[in-house]
Amino acid sequence: MSERTTVTVVGAAGRMGQMLIETILADERVVLAGATERPGHPWIGRDLGTCMGGSTHGIEVTDDPLEVFARSHAIVDFTTPASTVMHAELAAQARAVHVIGTTGLSASDHERIAAAAFHTPVIRAGNMSLGVNLLVQITRQVAAALDEDFDIEIVETHHRHKIDAPSGTALMLGEAAADGRGRRLEDVEVRTRDGITGPRRRGGVGFSVVRGGDVVGEHDVIFAADGERVVLRHLASDRRIFARGALKAALWGQGQPSGAYDMTHVLGLAEPDGASD
Ligand code: NAD
Repeated sequence: MSERTTVTVVGAAGRMGQMLIETILADERVVLAGATERPGHPWIGRDLGTCMGGSTHGIEVTDDPLEVFARSHAIVDFTTPASTVMHAELAAQARAVHVIGTTGLSASDHERIAAAAFHTPVIRAGNMSLGVNLLVQITRQVAAALDEDFDIEIVETHHRHKIDAPSGTALMLGEAAADGRGRRLEDVEVRTRDGITGPRRRGGVGFSVVRGGDVVGEHDVIFAADGERVVLRHLASDRRIFARGALKAALWGQGQPSGAYDMTHVLGLAEPDGASD
């Protein structure tokens, strides 16, 4: 590639934002074009390098995304649902590839992002790691192979700061499990249990959520039958895996037609039927 890909990180001060900036600065294929934060954030107007505790590197953190989007090939976005929807519209205007890692998006957020994807490539995944995306495929296959004598439970653990539940990854795994059995997750999911719940419903997909400490992310998919259990597990111990996946997506998106994509496309795991949402 003769010209390096220019990338803007929105939510630069966040846990993922800082990890993304470090990953971009260490990768010769890309150049950091800009860094944004929410209006009123203490980093606004300051040098990014100084904010991150190092030497200056000439990029001022801004709360004006459109100005930096206009000179970026890609936007990498691990922020909040409200800001991600706003960024989707601005990335579409700027025709920049939008890589979305933000979780907790509502149905109407998804609709607005899908509308933006008519104008530019949008790559969204509740988990950007290779391991989890493989686990999603395997979960679909195991769910298809094991009948409803096997109850499906998804257990996830995350750090104490996480604001949404179940995790985007747990929902990806739940969707794959339901899909493997030819069902829609919303028809079979059990999101909470409290009090006298009665016995477990056959064919349900249950979620359990653990929050605490600094856990980066752990997911178990349990297939439990009488006398045996199959447990599929992914343990993330370093946020770098998500940042590397996001960067891979930003590069993969260059030159792709407008549309909604996910990491299965980026990693070459998707069925050859084009973009999906
Ligand atoms: P965080 O709270 O540390 O960071 C979010 C940042 O976004 C904050 O600095 C916040 O100030 C900033 N922000 C909010 N509104 C903004 C706006 N309008 N413009 C610019 N910046 C804005 O959170 P985090 O742990 O970094 O996670 C962020 C999101 O990414 C969450 O939804 C999380 O679940 C998700 N996540 C996804 C993956 C994945 O692989 N897809 C991996 C890790 C985290």
